[in-house]
Amino acid sequence: MKDFKYLRRQMVETQLMPRGIRDERVLKAMETVERHLFVKEDLWGNAYDDCALPIGEGQTISQPYMVAAMTELLELKGDEKILEIGTGSGYQAAVLSLLAKDVFTIERIASLAFKAEEKFKSLGYNNIRVKTGDGTLGLPEEAPFDGIIVTAASPKIPDTYIKQLKINGRLVMLMGSRYSQTLYKIKRTQAGISISESTPCVFVPLIGQEGWDEERVDS
Ligand code: SAM
Repeated sequence: MKDFKYLRRQMVETQLMPRGIRDERVLKAMETVERHLFVKEDLWGNAYDDCALPIGEGQTISQPYMVAAMTELLELKGDEKILEIGTGSGYQAAVLSLLAKDVFTIERIASLAFKAEEKFKSLGYNNIRVKTGDGTLGLPEEAPFDGIIVTAASPKIPDTYIKQLKINGRLVMLMGSRYSQTLYKIKRTQAGISISESTPCVFVPLIGQEGWDEERVDS
């Protein structure tokens, strides 16, 4: 059996810190959450590698560095209400759950949402609530949020997200063309929004009413 605790420390020291992740709380959460438990057992040996991994249904668990970078951009202090779009394996939500008060997460693929919910129950992540549906519409019944994090790539900023953010709330998302995107932090201000650009990346598409069209996503 691999020493997963050691591998997590190595991941933090070799993948996250050298690339500029500085928030001590984020580094601690990345060292704490057991990423291997969010992938199939035959992938446990690669769970702390510097890459995304398959989770079934053509979807992926994101690269650890992207999880840390996106989380850091949310500027969490501990008392926030956060919305994640794209539950996937549940790993990103588990990281958020250690850093914020309440985490809501939406997944469009019911089987992934179900598995993630079971995982949260079995691992004791009690401040995460999972919904199945089109996350491009946000979660109006729970808005406003201190932060919204979109872990699939979008062609544009859905207006619904801005409307569901508090003033000074942060929207962290990946935007660009189908196979090449950039990570952005968008802050809702009194006057409108301010946008700052972060790292280039490639993510699976955000499919839905305000995202990519399912029929045309690969054309
Ligand atoms: N955060 C995930 C994790 O930690 O494993 C990784 C997410 S994976 C890169 C992107 C996920 O977004 C996929 O599971 C995909 O099904 C989901 N997704 C795509 N479009 C969506 C939508 N409109 N609403 C909700 N989930 C969506």
